[in-house]
Amino acid sequence: MKDRHRLTKTCLLIVCVVMLFSAISPAAPLASASAPAATPPTASVPLQAGAAGHYFPETGHYVPTAFYGFWSGHGGLPAFGYPLTEAFEEKSPTDGKTYLTQYFERARFEHHPEFAGTPYEVELGHLGSEKLGGQSQTRVTPFASSAQSAYFPETGHSLANGFKYFWENNGGLTVFGYPITQEFRENGLTVQYFERARFEYHPELKGTRYEVLLTLLGREKLEDRGWPLPAVATAGLSPAVVSQGRTSTVLVRSDKPVSAQVNYAGSNVAVAGDGTSCLALLPVESYAGTGRRAVTVVVTDELGTARTFNLQLTVVAAQFPIQRFPVPDDRQSLLDPTLDQQEWDLVQPFYAEVTPSKLWQGPFVVPVTGAEVSTEFGSRRAYNDGPVNSYHDAIDLAIDEGTPVQSDAAGRVVLARRLQVRGNCVIIDHGLGLHTAYFHLSSIDVKEGDIVQKGQVIGKVGNTGLSTGPHLHWEVRIGTVAVDPMQWVNQPIP
Ligand SMILES: [Zn+2]
Repeated sequence: MKDRHRLTKTCLLIVCVVMLFSAISPAAPLASASAPAATPPTASVPLQAGAAGHYFPETGHYVPTAFYGFWSGHGGLPAFGYPLTEAFEEKSPTDGKTYLTQYFERARFEHHPEFAGTPYEVELGHLGSEKLGGQSQTRVTPFASSAQSAYFPETGHSLANGFKYFWENNGGLTVFGYPITQEFRENGLTVQYFERARFEYHPELKGTRYEVLLTLLGREKLEDRGWPLPAVATAGLSPAVVSQGRTSTVLVRSDKPVSAQVNYAGSNVAVAGDGTSCLALLPVESYAGTGRRAVTVVVTDELGTARTFNLQLTVVAAQFPIQRFPVPDDRQSLLDPTLDQQEWDLVQPFYAEVTPSKLWQGPFVVPVTGAEVSTEFGSRRAYNDGPVNSYHDAIDLAIDEGTPVQSDAAGRVVLARRLQVRGNCVIIDHGLGLHTAYFHLSSIDVKEGDIVQKGQVIGKVGNTGLSTGPHLHWEVRIGTVAVDPMQWVNQPIP
């Protein structure tokens, strides 16, 4: 009941299709009378081997070592956000002196070499004070601080409830400075200003870690200057640890259109998306070696600057059963390796074809209902008394001949014909290099080129080709790599 592919077959080829998701157009020049530099330091830079500092591919900026130490030691991403500029010399509005300065989404860092080696070597700009401007604030009547409410004689303001909790637990004075207003309503939000920050209360996110959010004051500052901001893009593996025979994905998210190129195990793989959300499929062979595989994601923004994310996929072992099969006399000839190779040569190009868009939505359905799994995905196999020389690259579902077979997901029929080993066979293209295949059918109810929907009947269960009883052999392949179909049923990918 099956077709064979030798264990040694290296079906690693994924056809390289890299899409550009949106028209690349030069960023609109946002000239401002006060813009001081021809090339604002917001322009992303590429990753450079051996360069000093910490590289953030999310925005394409380097953070110098001294700044990175402060960033990672005082709250990191939630407190400060990603860097929006390179470090550059700028006059501080606080004291009028020029410092090495870097803007982050929520903060401005200044480097004070005169305090080198002390906790004050890096100081945060007073973005809260600068945003509030000269508005005079009424001081509150002094009171003795309690667990619920703290009074600060330095500024004559107090801090209470959720804002107090957030301030105390996320860096306090060093990161946010003193309160310079009370809580009040501004633009429909409850807010409070601090020297270096502005807190916003978001009741719609109550109970999550985002209930208190920091205004993106660094970002606002650069927008006010009219400097073009870098796209903020993230790239990650989901999952980052995957078993042999299963599928991982690369997900790219961006706030502005970008194009993404994904290199996996040495080959570029297909990427689909609209520029702000991109997806690539990473199949892991059931016979893959365990360990780490490099995944390199290059994200290019509208200005043409490429940022490189170096990710690592960890492959762990799965357990596959070993099966021995007697083959009936009348089908012995189908075990001929030449025949197997000829038929693989025929179907392989269909699997290798990449339609550069995603045609499926949500989880797959099992193509027949009420069937028994007669052979698991990935089972190691021996025929007659021979050695284990193949693996089962599908799931076999045993059920009565004539049972309707449904398409597991939406797609386009690319092959619908009778083959010798596979019997009556249908292959459906779901886009992005993903295909599903249905073998040994008694009849085929679709034709090549048909568009099919999830759950649409495409044929009936049979016992044609190399098969020892009525069953459906159901394959999921990404490129030519077979992966476990049940993962696609049990979870939507992505
Ligand atoms: Zn099978």
